[in-house]
Amino acid sequence: MNIHEYQAKQLLARYGVAVLKGGVAYTPAEAGQVAETLGGPVWVVKAQIHAGGRGKGHFLGDSSGKGGVRVVKSIKEVEETVNAIMGKVLVTAQTGPAGREVKRVYVEQGCDIKRELYLGMLIDRATSRITIMASTEGGMEIEEVAATHPEKITKVAIDPVQGFQAYHGRQIAFSLGLEGKQVNSAVKFIGALYKAFVDLDMSIAEINPLVVSGDGDVIALDAKINFDDNALFRHKEVEELRDEAEEDPAELEAARHSLNYIKLDGSIGCMVNGAGLAMATMDIIKLYGGSPANFLDVGGGATKERVTTAFKLILSDPNVEGILVNIFGGIMRCDVIAEGVIAAAREVSLNVPLVVRLEGTNVELGKKIMAQSGLPIIAADNLADAAEKVVKAVKEAA
Ligand code: ADP
Ligand code: MG
Repeated sequence: MNIHEYQAKQLLARYGVAVLKGGVAYTPAEAGQVAETLGGPVWVVKAQIHAGGRGKGHFLGDSSGKGGVRVVKSIKEVEETVNAIMGKVLVTAQTGPAGREVKRVYVEQGCDIKRELYLGMLIDRATSRITIMASTEGGMEIEEVAATHPEKITKVAIDPVQGFQAYHGRQIAFSLGLEGKQVNSAVKFIGALYKAFVDLDMSIAEINPLVVSGDGDVIALDAKINFDDNALFRHKEVEELRDEAEEDPAELEAARHSLNYIKLDGSIGCMVNGAGLAMATMDIIKLYGGSPANFLDVGGGATKERVTTAFKLILSDPNVEGILVNIFGGIMRCDVIAEGVIAAAREVSLNVPLVVRLEGTNVELGKKIMAQSGLPIIAADNLADAAEKVVKAVKEAA
């Protein structure tokens, strides 16, 4: 789960991570009040959406070339800026061309920036450790730095038993070329971020940019946090920060039905039981020259209701040109699944090719039920056959 920048800064501040003063606002008047309490002479108005690249982004239907992070010099200008961007659609490198509507803004104190750096924390699955990444290339996406200047990234993996130690912090501070009091400021900062990361079960924390101010303080100017969904049950206060308006509607609907659904950008909708089989199905679709429109694990109990919901989810994606149902009847019997698929296909009045591969208990009966349904279901005998047939059917339909 992701949260907004201002929420991330509020959480991090509790742990002693240095941030500037600021406040959230939903209207220009509210923004003006926040600006007044902060005091000037410089404020920054920041559009709050769950995507990065806001500063370099642009608003739909706006040719001023100004992005979603704007430095302003009077309270009147704060209000005018919020008036200009509230309710507008911000497009950034991370939102895709459709962009995101700005529904709240963060008004923050202006910062006297001396240097912009990068600091990230994530769980590195290869080492099973929280890894701290730092780079002198603040403001640039870390993926881009990794591709073009990997030598500019310092990585420090933390032993979970030992935990974060001051020397880890100094190692990073020196790699960033910090000196004097900046070093202590950075060590304190990184230690506080690490504590927040562990305590709140984060999976990614990205401070980009981490800045050195004119006074030599190390401050988070931006904060992007992602939490481990499986640990949210023990962080109610974090869960309350969820902003459903920022989430994919199909993924939200799937979560309500406990379906594991992730939207992808291909054209073949997949309905599979079991995460491993779902991964294998996506791979084999690729192998046969197609591209999956989603990952969808309907789980062990593929009842008629679940199958119908899954069908509706898949078809809510306008990119879907064909569906592949790949189900192994282990706990569920294939005849029950076949009935579920038929009922669902009728209910949603399916209008794209449907390939079904069933295997397992009562498979023969399941196939017979589908063949006698009168629906144009293409039966497949195995994974390769199914992938080949769905890719071919989509090509022919196009
Ligand atoms: P994004 O990454 O979405 O573009 P950031 O919060 O990183 O948004 O802001 C983009 C840039 O705007 C920063 O790299 C920094 O140069 C500038 N900026 C952001 N907040 C402030 C601030 N409080 N004071 C001065 N400049 C800021
Ligand atoms: Mg940023």
